[in-house]
Order: sequence, then structure tokens, then C-alpha cells
Amino acid sequence: MTSQTNRKDMCSLENKIDYVKRMISETDNIVCLSGVGVVMECGALNFNRDDEAYRIEEEYDRCPEEIMSSVFYNVRMKQFYDFYKKEILSMKLTPTATYDALRRLQEAGKLKACITYNIYGTAEQMGLKNVYELDGNIHNNWCSKCGKTFPMEYLRDSRDVPLCDVCKGAIRPGIRLHGERMRNNVLTLAANACAEADVLLVLGTNLFDDMVQFAVNHYQGEKLILVTPHDHFTDKAADVVIHEHVKDILPKIVS
Ligand SMILES: [Zn+2]
Repeated sequence: MTSQTNRKDMCSLENKIDYVKRMISETDNIVCLSGVGVVMECGALNFNRDDEAYRIEEEYDRCPEEIMSSVFYNVRMKQFYDFYKKEILSMKLTPTATYDALRRLQEAGKLKACITYNIYGTAEQMGLKNVYELDGNIHNNWCSKCGKTFPMEYLRDSRDVPLCDVCKGAIRPGIRLHGERMRNNVLTLAANACAEADVLLVLGTNLFDDMVQFAVNHYQGEKLILVTPHDHFTDKAADVVIHEHVKDILPKIVS
């Protein structure tokens, strides 16, 4: 990112919002990178936070990364599902105004794609299209033997390891577990969207995030907007940085 346009004059929040509004009014090719901060604003827990990781370790005797790994899933499926059902599938999220704002951008023909690690399927539930979920999602599950698909509720409400009602095979959760590769077709679609994007809208994360680095590697433009409440040493590489909660700022930008 090289543009330093009017950076000195953009100190106030109002000036930054006006600047971003102009940027958005002049383009019809925005790609949004929706980070963990966006889903946390909906009420999701962040297992990377020290207090949450500690609670999980106390309760399950293992760290969240280990439980959510392909090795653990394959070897200790019951313990995996005990955790997955209680800590992931039972989580109640309330989509924020961020998603309404993104949908308005898409309906106006400006937002072309949304790339996310969010496994809860929030963007699609809120009507967004061209959502590339790098870690899969909790709603698309399938039988490991016959391939029959199952909704999230089937897994959540099962008494033990969820089994296929046709062949009794174990049901595989639709998320990417640690140690597994991302799906190539999703990566290709995300990379193509970034390569064609005029504006990258990075929400609720920082430029150190693997997803953002992947996007920036394919992005050819010079208009990277970063909205996140927490500052980070990589922020200076963005063209505009707004340190606020995404749900408070994005509706103002899109209004
Ligand atoms: Zn089956």
C-alpha cells in the first residue's frame, strides 16, 4: 500500500469517514476481509484470548487448538464432540449492523466478495453472496461414509458422537480442523476476487492476520481500509486506519 493521500489532514474520525465514503462512492469493486473481531462483536468467544484458553484448559484438560485438530478429532471423537457441541454449536450469536451495512454495499453493486474465517455462517445468513469461508462452516456437515449432509442442529442435538441415520457412519463437521488444508476451490475464488479488487476493506483484524496477508499478496490496488478497535504495529501499511468497533463505524461509512 503506497497511497499516503491527505494522511495529515485525516486525523479526525469524521475526516476519515468522509474520505472512506468518497473512496467507496468511486468504486464498484470492493472485497471485504471479515476478521475475528467482527464475529466477536456478534457475541462469539475468542478461544485465542488468554482467559478463554485458560477456561477451556481447566474444563477439558487440553488447549482449544489441540481439541480442534484433525488428530484429536480422529483419535478422541467423543471428547471432540463434547467440546464442539457445547462450546461452538451452542453459541448464540447476534449479527451486528456490520452485516446490514455489507449487504447494502452488495445490493448497491459495490461489494463483490467477502472473505472470512467465521465458521458460524453469519454472512450468508444475513443475505450476503460470494462469501468465501476459509475455515468452512458449522452448517455444512456430512457423513464420512456415505456423504449424506446434515444441518448443524442434528449434530448439536445428538446424544453422543453424531451418526448418520442411513449408514451409522460418523458425521464429519463442516469446519476446517487444525492440521487440515484449506479447500483449494475456495482459496482460488478468494485469490481471484482480491486480484480484481479496487478496494480492500479489512474489518476486525490486523494486517498480520494470515487471511489478510493472503489477500494482500493477490491485491493489485492501493486502497486498503482497516477498521478495527485494536492497534497493531502493521497498521501503518494500510491507507486508512480507523480504530473503532466495526459495528459502530461501518454503518456510518455506508449510510
Ligand atoms: Zn451415511
